[in-house]
Amino acid sequence: METQKLIDIRSLSQEQIKEVFLAKGEKAFRATQVYEWLWKKTASDFKQMSNLSIDTRNWPKENYVINHVKVVDKQISSDKTIKSGFKLHDNHLVEGVLIPADDRMTACVSSQVGCSLTCKFCATGYMDRKRNLDPGEIYDQVVTIARQAEENFGQKLTNIVYMGMGEPLLNYANVWDSIERITSPTGLNMAAKRITVSTAGIAKMIKKLADDGAKFNLAVSLHAADDVKRDTIMPINESNSLEAVGKALQHFYNKTKSRITFEYIAFKDFNESIEDAKMLLKFCKKVPAKVNVIEYNPTGDGQFEKADSKKIDAFCAYLEKNGVKATVRRSRGNDIDAACGQLANKNKLAMEQLK
Ligand code: SAH
Repeated sequence: METQKLIDIRSLSQEQIKEVFLAKGEKAFRATQVYEWLWKKTASDFKQMSNLSIDTRNWPKENYVINHVKVVDKQISSDKTIKSGFKLHDNHLVEGVLIPADDRMTACVSSQVGCSLTCKFCATGYMDRKRNLDPGEIYDQVVTIARQAEENFGQKLTNIVYMGMGEPLLNYANVWDSIERITSPTGLNMAAKRITVSTAGIAKMIKKLADDGAKFNLAVSLHAADDVKRDTIMPINESNSLEAVGKALQHFYNKTKSRITFEYIAFKDFNESIEDAKMLLKFCKKVPAKVNVIEYNPTGDGQFEKADSKKIDAFCAYLEKNGVKATVRRSRGNDIDAACGQLANKNKLAMEQLK
């Protein structure tokens, strides 16, 4: 007998769940309860839905599953950053990070298994994109990391950044849905302004974000404000030139009035001179923006080096002097490969999976 493929019930909207329940002769409010269990109470099994009759907890199992992510690996950095390895229902692995600070608790989540963009400085870029994450799989990372914040630091999660593995704007619909659930009162009820989506710069999708009425923050990984340089480190720039990205950002700002963050990794002898700062300044004039200068985290191939801190300071001072806010982001969690660009499933399980 051929086994029937089970459907992840979390891929259904509340309305669709209601239809399924009504068709089964159940009352509509049961569907609302199930929806609450799935999202607000993050049940991983129908049997946890204790306000339903045993019968109502049982029949959905014939056709539906809840594809929850499982934490299979957890590492804690000397700076208290926690990196978790999440196993998906089909055994793929992704990573998420809790970054604690005095004034905030930030979850950094993945949006894809691997990444298709091959940025030369990023470990995830060497992994190939295996598949997109579902909204529920992104949501689960947030929920798990929020629990870690409470358990380890007695604090609530305050911020979410889509800066883990993958390019969020190449998994547009699922990323969008995950944010809908995170911000919804029937989900985690977090403010959209606490969420930042980071993109390598997919012009068409930045425009779409604006047209769809995005309320969250947008960060763009720039790393060079000159096409020739950017082409060499980020192949996506060949099809999404700085001019195209700039135009998309102007459209985004005009519609959302939300200031853009540019991320800029400072590489030694590559993009950290005052000449480079001048080019970046010019790009920043296109649209209200601030700059986060990121320390390069070595990914092991020795192709790039971290810029000298004196040069980074001069670079930022130049931007500030000319009216652009520039902050240096010191790297967190690099002793456990949890820092930006280091997420590559280097743990044992991942190695076993690759065998
Ligand atoms: N694909 C998205 C989100 C993932 S990367 C994006 O490109 O924005 C999150 C941030 O980490 C990006 O700014 C990325 O450029 C940066 N990053 C990647 N590798 C890095 C490294 N080795 N050191 C420091 N930052 C890195």
